[in-house]
Amino acid sequence: MDKRKFLKVSGVAAAGLMVSPLISCGDTHSGNASVSSNKESEATGIITEFKQSTLGFDYSALEPHIDAQTMEIHFSKHHAGYVRKLNKALTAEPDFKSNGIEDLLMKVDGSQTAIRNNGGGHYNHSLFWECMKPGGSKAPEGKLAEAINSEFGNQKALEEAFFKAAKTRFGSGWAWLTADANGKLSVSSTANQDNPLMKNIVKEGGTPILGIDVWEHAYYLKYQNLRGDYINAFMDVVNWDTVAAKYAVV
Ligand code: MN
Repeated sequence: MDKRKFLKVSGVAAAGLMVSPLISCGDTHSGNASVSSNKESEATGIITEFKQSTLGFDYSALEPHIDAQTMEIHFSKHHAGYVRKLNKALTAEPDFKSNGIEDLLMKVDGSQTAIRNNGGGHYNHSLFWECMKPGGSKAPEGKLAEAINSEFGNQKALEEAFFKAAKTRFGSGWAWLTADANGKLSVSSTANQDNPLMKNIVKEGGTPILGIDVWEHAYYLKYQNLRGDYINAFMDVVNWDTVAAKYAVV
């Protein structure tokens, strides 16, 4: 399996795989999370139970930008809770079938509240963990850099647009950098656990390649009401290599 294929199948896009032993962006691996092993029917590929992938680094690895206590609660309580409730919701709606988390989000509509909220919660957090790296990484090069320069002017302008989307999201939600099928980039934000894959629900669709959680549980222990400080801290630990790898396979 070449690197590009590996990145595609090893990350959030691959929540439908039988085994996804690690998240590709992490430098180190800890035993603090369970190995992903979604249950699926061998005959149909239909996923009947989702599981969390490993975090890929220790809870304290993003210090001082993101504190260990926030990481632990966020990963082991919040994200784990979305996965548990998603599986419960799928049991309650046996007619709703998907071949993976992305397929599920593209099919969900506004009437399936529990699948929408918890499926979104699972996907969004999986992407969030993947797109962070202890120490961060250099700004992107290559095709992603070209697309950023074409759409926003330069990396700084993109980061300003992303900051603004995250800062001004009223209440709980997420801000996104997404690509459309032609590789065109855009910045948007969604409420609650919605995301741009939910084409039956959101106005601005696309494939997320970077996302920031701006629910207060993502930052309140360390940053309290200072959401802007948290967003800046997040930008310091973005793994642009992962973002570029995701862009390459959109
Ligand atoms: Mn969260």
